[in-house]
Amino acid sequence: MSGANNDYPEAVVELIEILRRLPGVGKRSAERMALALLKFPADELKSMGQTIAALPEMVGNCPICGNLTAAGENCPICDSSRRDESVICVVEDFTRINAIEKSGAFNGLYHVLGGRISPLDEEYEDSLRITQLEKRLAAGQVKELILALGSDIESRATSLYLAKKFAGQVAKITKLAQGLPAGADLSYADSATISAALSNRNILQ
Ligand SMILES: [Zn+2]
Repeated sequence: MSGANNDYPEAVVELIEILRRLPGVGKRSAERMALALLKFPADELKSMGQTIAALPEMVGNCPICGNLTAAGENCPICDSSRRDESVICVVEDFTRINAIEKSGAFNGLYHVLGGRISPLDEEYEDSLRITQLEKRLAAGQVKELILALGSDIESRATSLYLAKKFAGQVAKITKLAQGLPAGADLSYADSATISAALSNRNILQ
């Protein structure tokens, strides 16, 4: 294969570098994508660029749960009247909601933390949307909190912290069963694994 990046005009080299930052895209794929884009009609490229540029103002986080949604709106899950409002499933980030929804095994609501507790970060109560979760629990409708965090050290520390903090505020706190392989990323776990982990969840408090 020929095509050292130096052979391309600067703008193309830049595009390749941008594409390489996407997950699962190596140098070779980025190069192929960039060259494919160059064959698109100019107006399509322009509208593609505008779609990307508009993302920050068009997309936001649900003010209730933190899920990804259209800017300024509640997410469809929080807005739905068919969801069980007595259960909240806590996840690290919104990509995990998609994985759990695909399994079809959960009909409650979600709360996106936006990360895990890091021992070096003392501001985690604010940065992790823990205060928002506290407010939701204070409303009194929630009977169970499911902690669907990962199995690495920081995720486990976060689960323990949340279980301790909310022990008196919600009747039941559970975490996903060890159906997930150690270090498994919930975003990529298959539906059957997620279903099993949900139905065999363990009581923490
Ligand atoms: Zn929501």
